[in-house]
Amino acid sequence: MKTFWLYGNLGLGLLALGTGLSVAAFLTSFFLAFLTLCVGHSVGLHRGIIHKTYATSRLLRWTFALLFAFSGLGGPLSWLKVHYTRDYWQNRADCPRFFRYDHGLLTDYHWNMHCRFVPAQLELYGLPSEDTEDPLLRFLERSWMLFPVALMALLAWQFGWAFAGVTCCLRVTAGILGHWFVGYVSHKIGYVRYAVDGASSEGRNVFFLGVISFGEGFHNNHHAYPASARMGVKWYELDLGWWVVRALEVLGLVHDVVAWHRPGFAAKAAAKAVDPRFIFRDPDQRVG
Ligand SMILES: [Zn+2]
Ligand SMILES: [Zn+2]
Repeated sequence: MKTFWLYGNLGLGLLALGTGLSVAAFLTSFFLAFLTLCVGHSVGLHRGIIHKTYATSRLLRWTFALLFAFSGLGGPLSWLKVHYTRDYWQNRADCPRFFRYDHGLLTDYHWNMHCRFVPAQLELYGLPSEDTEDPLLRFLERSWMLFPVALMALLAWQFGWAFAGVTCCLRVTAGILGHWFVGYVSHKIGYVRYAVDGASSEGRNVFFLGVISFGEGFHNNHHAYPASARMGVKWYELDLGWWVVRALEVLGLVHDVVAWHRPGFAAKAAAKAVDPRFIFRDPDQRVG
């Protein structure tokens, strides 16, 4: 199904690109990519729902989850499961091949785009029941495909098929391929600032990909500080997702933001590490 979803979107997206391309379609694509990938995926699902680096209202949490559904990347609970499983194994020496990233680009592409990952012992990874039992996340897990499709139908009706193909199919394809590519490269190439003791994969920081992936490509920083809402560490590591978190904080929409540079971070990170809802290892190893 996911393979069909990817190549279906790619085919329709390229077709749309060939039949008509406008500045408006490209600008709309970037705006939708920012809303769905930066706000929905990076800030909402990854930093918020998965790592719980800030607190927010249920309404905003659900808004983030909805924006994520429009990204066309997949179901939020599937993503949650893969993330918890991956963090668990990458922080251990006996990490299986899939998460250790010793393999090449094409193998990784094949595995990620054409296979389905099913964790055998889900209970091992300590997924919080507040997430797995969340009614909206459960609903979106089953229905996520309908959201980008509905948006495409709406935009096609209003602005034509070419516009809808570029702003939906091509954007979804770019999101899927971009997320996969950033994930692969940020475990293979790039600079390592922090050694994470005992880990089989500590991630790497990739400057260019970090900037265009809203901070996600500063992946070694994220392995070192998974409890931090801020992924950039140096001034030049432009972390757009962090600026969204800051803007939401200033507006009073998120609170109790945990970030590596703020006072008391080590204590807060350690407090999270012993919380049974979180699966991180020795807290001392998590503060760089
Ligand atoms: Zn993460
Ligand atoms: Zn990683």
